[in-house]
Amino acid sequence: MKDSSRSCCNCGTKNGMAPFSDRSVKISFKELSTEIAGLAGWTCGACDETEFTPDSAARYADASDSLIEAYRREVGEQVKRIRKEASLTQSEAVRYLSGGGHNAFSRYERAEVEPPKPLLILMALIDRHPELLQEVIHLNDTAALGMLSGKDHTHSAG
Ligand SMILES: [Zn+2]
Repeated sequence: MKDSSRSCCNCGTKNGMAPFSDRSVKISFKELSTEIAGLAGWTCGACDETEFTPDSAARYADASDSLIEAYRREVGEQVKRIRKEASLTQSEAVRYLSGGGHNAFSRYERAEVEPPKPLLILMALIDRHPELLQEVIHLNDTAALGMLSGKDHTHSAG
């Protein structure tokens, strides 16, 4: 690790990897991105393979973990915001929106579990069209076949 240049572990070019320091790398996860500054390591001039120093590799991994955590936390906060704006308790939200264990929403909002995509879509619809909540609550009391066949229109026709 102390040599200034090294052979490439990817393409095998002898002494192909030149050291670098103070490099900034942008990483992204879904809609979030961040920049990690001051990274050091080696890059292969032949194939662009990059290897970080152990310290930089650890910082890179930590930044990636933090970004994923920030994303999950943000999703959880938005889920909580929409639930509160809909004036639902966590247990009502489980009952009407998600199903699952009684603490499912608590776990989504604390970012312990990533909410399933159909729930996110339902939350987004309620956020955009708050009046849909009454329809959702009504559908919860409707038999599945009546709901899907569109034969139960007592609410929307009302
Ligand atoms: Zn290479």
